[in-house]
Amino acid sequence: MTKPFTDLQAWREERRTQCRAGRSLGFVPTMGALHEGHLSLVQRSRSENDGTLVSIFVNPTQFDDRVDYEKYPRRVDDDMQMLRAAGADYVLLPTQADLYPDAFRYRVSEVDHSRTLEGAHRPGHFDAVLTVVLKLLQLARAERAYFGEKDWQQLQLVRGMADAFFLPTLIVPVGTVRELDGLALSSRNRRLAAADRAKAPAFHRALAEAATPDEAAHVLRGSGFVVDYVQDVDGRRLGAVRLGGVRLIDNVPLNGGPKGPHYESGPKGPRYESGPEGPHDEDS
Ligand code: AMP
Repeated sequence: MTKPFTDLQAWREERRTQCRAGRSLGFVPTMGALHEGHLSLVQRSRSENDGTLVSIFVNPTQFDDRVDYEKYPRRVDDDMQMLRAAGADYVLLPTQADLYPDAFRYRVSEVDHSRTLEGAHRPGHFDAVLTVVLKLLQLARAERAYFGEKDWQQLQLVRGMADAFFLPTLIVPVGTVRELDGLALSSRNRRLAAADRAKAPAFHRALAEAATPDEAAHVLRGSGFVVDYVQDVDGRRLGAVRLGGVRLIDNVPLNGGPKGPHYESGPKGPRYESGPEGPHDEDS
């Protein structure tokens, strides 16, 4: 049974009842338009908790580009069906008015790493992400919350926030799920025109194979990508590109950098860098 909650008070009452019964909760925050990447987080949560809550909320404050926000895919009925099939127990569907009674007057700000890479290209983005994640974590009251390594910088900042504010929820990283051609699954992939979709796997290949970030950027520009950045940080290579107006981000471990165990599913299934089959590295 997958139970939707559109009323925050009803969810909070439900969670109080669960807490009294000693039932642990895993939480997966999403913006919907779900794919196998999101479902790997749900699967991981199900394996570690008595119950799993998924939230679906397209957070307007974190979009610096109005068109990107408006074009962001919204498919709640399909999402619900996928979550039922995946065995999620609860789905939180808040509105903007629910989550922003303060009209975004109160914000969480990280003043260092949030201004680099994605933050440099999307001013204010991470303040908005951290703010909505804090709100959602407070509502979920989960033992664990699951975040994808696909959004590497976001994962580091959320972990940093959880430490800085002594949040009781453990932040658990989950490896990136990719198409067989290497493209990281993303809700934005469906907006790629056919020719751009055919080009897109070159992004991951360049990140993984180039000797330096400059070489990766050069190769990508040569193949028709607009490169926002490619940079090596702490044993990881992070990049952001645009293809026909669709922005893609990805990252790969560098030699000697932090690397999840490799898992290759059968010929049809998606490929996991780490994750469902990997060890539960809660303290990694
Ligand atoms: P989003 O709906 O894009 O905000 O993503 C919700 C969560 O799913 C975030 O923690 C993402 O990092 C994670 N996620 C998105 N794409 C993938 C992927 N391809 N593999 C694993 N996790 C992902």
